[in-house]
Formats: sequence, C-alpha cells, structure tokens
Amino acid sequence: MPPHLPPATLRLRIDRQALAANWRALDRLSGKARAGAAVKADCYGVGVIHALPALLEAGARDFFVAHWSEVADVLAHVPGAQISVLHGVTSGAEAAYALATGVRPVINSLQQAAIWRAAGGGLCDLMVDTGINRLGVSLAELGDPLVKQLSVHTLLSHLASADEDSALNAVQLERTRQAAAAVAHQRLSLANSAGIALGADYAFDLTRPGLALYGGIARSELADHIRQVVFPQAMVIQRRRIGAGESVGYNATFTAAADMETATVSIGYADGFLRCRGAGAALQHCGQNLPVRGRVSMDMVVVDCTAYATLSVGDFVDIPFDLPNVAQSSGMSQYELLTTLGKRFSRIS
Ligand SMILES: *Cc1c(COP(=O)(O)O)cnc(C)c1O
Repeated sequence: MPPHLPPATLRLRIDRQALAANWRALDRLSGKARAGAAVKADCYGVGVIHALPALLEAGARDFFVAHWSEVADVLAHVPGAQISVLHGVTSGAEAAYALATGVRPVINSLQQAAIWRAAGGGLCDLMVDTGINRLGVSLAELGDPLVKQLSVHTLLSHLASADEDSALNAVQLERTRQAAAAVAHQRLSLANSAGIALGADYAFDLTRPGLALYGGIARSELADHIRQVVFPQAMVIQRRRIGAGESVGYNATFTAAADMETATVSIGYADGFLRCRGAGAALQHCGQNLPVRGRVSMDMVVVDCTAYATLSVGDFVDIPFDLPNVAQSSGMSQYELLTTLGKRFSRIS
C-alpha cells in the first residue's frame, strides 16, 4: 500500500452553492434564452470534478470546451452531455473522435467544413466571425457550398469587447443577425458572460457564460448577481525573526527597517500567485492583514506578521481572491487569475 498522503498545505475551497447560484442568475439574466456553461480549461481552473456536478444540478445542459482532450473529463461527470468543442476539427482524427463520442465540433472555417464532411459529418455547430478575427467563417463565406451542406445545430458568434461599451458590440450584433438569416440552424448563440449584461437583444437562444460562473465580474451590471466561488488558502510553513538591515527573498528586494517577524507561506508563482500579485499585496488571517515582503518565489511567499504574535506553523492564511479587485491591483485579468491556479491545491467543495 502506498503511504498515506499528509494533508496539502495549499487548499482551494470551492463554494458549490455560489457556483450554482451564479449559473441560475445568469440563466435568469439571459431572459428567454437558456444559459449554457463554458467549462474549458478544467472549468477555468476551478476543477471539472467540483464545478460540473454543481452546474448540472443548477440546470446547465450545454457545455463548451476548447480542446478534444477536455471531452472525456466532462463526459465522465455528465454522461450524454451536450458538449461542443470550440476549436472544431483540424484533422480527420479529431473528426473521428467527435463521431465516436457524439460530441459536436464547432466548425470554424471552410477547411474544417471539408474535414467534417470527409469524415461523414452530421450535426455540428458553426462559428461565424463577426469581428473578433480569431476563429470562425466570415459572413462572405456563408454562401459557400461547404457551409450550405452543413447540418447546423447551434450557430455561434463571439463578442470581442462585451466587457466594454464598445461600438463593436452593436456591429457584431447586427452581423450575427445577418448570419442567422443566411444559414439554417436550430439555435443561435452570441453572448458570453459580459454579453449577457448587454441586454436581451444579445441573448438569442443560448448564452455561453464562463467567467461569471466562477465568480468573475466582467461588467459592473453583474456585480450584484455574482458571488465569489473560489477561496484559496495556504499554510504557514515557518515563522522567523529578522533583524534590522536583513533582506528577504530573491534579489533582496526588501530590507527590514527594524527588527521584524515574518511568516513563510506555502504558495508561489507555480500556484498562480505571480510576482505581480505580491507587490503591495497582503494575505489575511482572521481578518488581519499580512503584507507580502520581497519577491514571490516559485513555492513560497514571505509576509510580515510582526503585529500578529499568534500566527504559527500550520495556520492557514487566506489568499485574496476577490477577482475584480485582485485583477485591478495585480494587472492580471480575472481569467488569468482563475486559469493559473495550478494543480497543487487540494480542491474542496
Ligand atoms: C471562453 C468562451 C466563452 C465564455 O466566455 P466568458 O467571457 O468567460 O464568459 C464563450 N464563448 C466562446 C466562444 C469562448 O471561447
């Protein structure tokens, strides 16, 4: 028998109730449209194992991943789930896998349409690029015979700037309507999380929230509806006394002005706590602020705990994860904060 693994020194509490409530709020805000769920990148780092059952229970039925490698994990938790693969089919092997799993590719180009047809085809989704210029067939290509012969379940487009009051939003809305008039389809889908906040015009039949499910706030209109889902904590692994004039961490970027006490905490940039999240930031314990001192290392960060005599090895400190605030102070996006969380957290829900 392998030895029993001791408890992790990094943990991620996932509030399933908050996640389910976020999906229901987004479904409600989607009006007559249903809300789906973007579950790519292991549910934005939250963990498919924890997030998918909550989403399913809340009522989500339409799931979006980016890679074929993400399909099996989703199917394991939701057998028979409606899954769409956003990257579509770039090879016959991917098309064969789609057919074998019953998962729909999102066709993104005439080349992909040809690959899908050569593989035998069948029901698929179709992405129309209305202005993000990333993936998707152009409006001009919609009349192409390769597109005409597709059997389109969901016709999609994707907003480039839904989190801003950009003129591009209305342009993309209008082009989406043009696309819908040009291609036979069962359902039409445009809005991501931020797009849901743009109003009923953008919702069509199906919305595709991702970020907001996991507690991200893409537009201020959503702030009152979205709850924090992810709560990271890391353990104190050493407490030290540092004399005046001593420095802390790589490259000695911090020097103690006076004698002080520090705690070394078991989280680093390998856990998504990048250097930009250390500067000027503080961790917390029982509501007390523990300012970060010196550079963030790969596996550790040092905090000032001079004012907090009882903080000891084995205590868990809270890592700030109010996504809009941490994004603002670190310069990372809310998406990056979630998806860089890493594998060393013991996820609890
Ligand atoms: C990731 C993604 C979404 C979800 O977007 P959020 O901004 O996270 O809500 C929706 N649609 C497509 C095509 C995506 O790639």
